[in-house]
Amino acid sequence: MRVAVGKLNRIEIDSARLWRDLDASARIGPGRAGGLSRLALSDDDKVMRDTFVSWCKEADLRVRVDAFGNIFARRAGLEESSPAILIGSHLDTQIAGGRYDGILGVLAGLEVIRTLNDHAVATRRPIEVVSWTNEEGVRFQPPMLGSGAFAGIYDPDWVHRQLDGGRATFAAELERIGYLGPDHLCPTQYDSYFELHIEQDDVLDAEGLHVGIVTGGFKSFGLELCVAGENAHSGPTPMRRRRNALVGASLLIARLNEIGWSHEPEGRTTCSRLTVEPNRYGIIPHLAELTVDLRHPDAATAAEMCSQFRDFLPLAALKANVEIAVAREWSFGDVAFDAKLINLVRSVASDLGVSHRHLMSAAGHDAYNISKVIPTVMLFTPCRDGVSHNEREHIEPAYTAPGVNVLLNAVLRRATA
Ligand SMILES: [Zn+2]
Repeated sequence: MRVAVGKLNRIEIDSARLWRDLDASARIGPGRAGGLSRLALSDDDKVMRDTFVSWCKEADLRVRVDAFGNIFARRAGLEESSPAILIGSHLDTQIAGGRYDGILGVLAGLEVIRTLNDHAVATRRPIEVVSWTNEEGVRFQPPMLGSGAFAGIYDPDWVHRQLDGGRATFAAELERIGYLGPDHLCPTQYDSYFELHIEQDDVLDAEGLHVGIVTGGFKSFGLELCVAGENAHSGPTPMRRRRNALVGASLLIARLNEIGWSHEPEGRTTCSRLTVEPNRYGIIPHLAELTVDLRHPDAATAAEMCSQFRDFLPLAALKANVEIAVAREWSFGDVAFDAKLINLVRSVASDLGVSHRHLMSAAGHDAYNISKVIPTVMLFTPCRDGVSHNEREHIEPAYTAPGVNVLLNAVLRRATA
């Protein structure tokens, strides 16, 4: 086996081909500043999905779509009944996102398969590339919805009922763009899951390394809060009679920020969304809705940060004379990636002479959900200055191809073992 693997190690991806596809993707749903604004289940998402499916069909892959719009493209194995290897990430982006977050992982999976096709390498196990729906959670919450549904973490009907800002449901939007698929795929059909992703932090870039092998994730708690006050005239209403929802929200945001600072440098707290109604001059707002998250690499500390924040809710309600309710909550990040797969990736990186280190991920990824049901590993590749969820996000072929080659050879070893 080692001899065969040694021979196969000489296979390398076609980096120029991968870049052509990344550039083609970057023209679908462009943002205002050179990045992407390709929201899940939008018209642009449909165009990207159709493009991806056509690329998969050109590579002779069998394409299937499940009831959550997740797209699976399969390369047959010598033993079709063997559990398949799954490689993937997501094609949706943030509202002001980069060209590579998620997209690189999906197209790297396709590039792995195309490279195997180029060299006519047959593998014992089938290999599939997957694009998960709604990883970013911009239109539909929670994030990582498609992978969570596939992993059985969420009830399918509940997933279908999720609303885009109180308008269209997830199911209706899937149907509208033609991706409410008929296929039922389940985790037991898979042997392992590999996700390659840009790091979204600057450790690899600063240290000049090519691959990060992800050992775990920051524990993250997300909360959607609803602050209810009452409309009143901003002139005549004395301070003591006010029930200003925005004041309640502001107290929460300030406290949240304090909690983050008091857990520096590893703790992170964010309020990333605040909506206020009626949000007009001269009238005290009756409603404020906000989304917050709290993160720490140590799960117990993250939980402590979250309870500090929750303990403050009644006090903020009292101070602002409003009602505060938690409308929705979620958590992710208590992941255990597979030790054997981590060792596999590390030994392939060493054999190929690709510089690498272990890393924790502060961001959420589809791999977190999939790790609950399929042995999973994640590889990070460098992104310039760690800039991500920003249209300036940037990667270079020379710093990315080594990681995709590690992915290729790790998948190959697993698929032929
Ligand atoms: Zn991503």
